[in-house]
Amino acid sequence: MLCEICGDNEAEFIVLVEGAKLPVCHGCSKFGKVLVSLASQRRAEEAAAGEKKYARTQPEFDLVEDYAEKIKNARMKTGFSVEDFAKKIAEKKAFLEKIESGHAKPPEGLALKLQKELGIKLLEEVSDSISPAGSSSSKGVTLGDIVFLKKKKKGDE
Ligand SMILES: [Zn+2]
Repeated sequence: MLCEICGDNEAEFIVLVEGAKLPVCHGCSKFGKVLVSLASQRRAEEAAAGEKKYARTQPEFDLVEDYAEKIKNARMKTGFSVEDFAKKIAEKKAFLEKIESGHAKPPEGLALKLQKELGIKLLEEVSDSISPAGSSSSKGVTLGDIVFLKKKKKGDE
């Protein structure tokens, strides 16, 4: 959304100008009374969306780095050839070979099956290391500006 006054910059605020609510850029916000800071609104929306997405996510699992070696060693301990083992777990021999050589990653279902069959640990729970959305991004509007605008708005009312 572009500034309604200059038309050059991305609108950052909704201001009241002579009774009309207009989206305007930072520079043009001085022409009217700032009602809403779009940047802070957007951040709030992003944060809400992020939280929602998070609430729905189940614990994620990641393959251990040395999965290929682990599978191969464990499979050899069982005495099965790749071919026999592939048959046992109903997978394609070529795919199993690729996995054991590290050229393919077993999908989660297969990894779970291998864990069970071979008694090894292939999946690790991924710790969520997500930083809060929009914590460091500022698009022209600093936190100081927002606090200032909020104060100003309050004072006007
Ligand atoms: Zn403008």
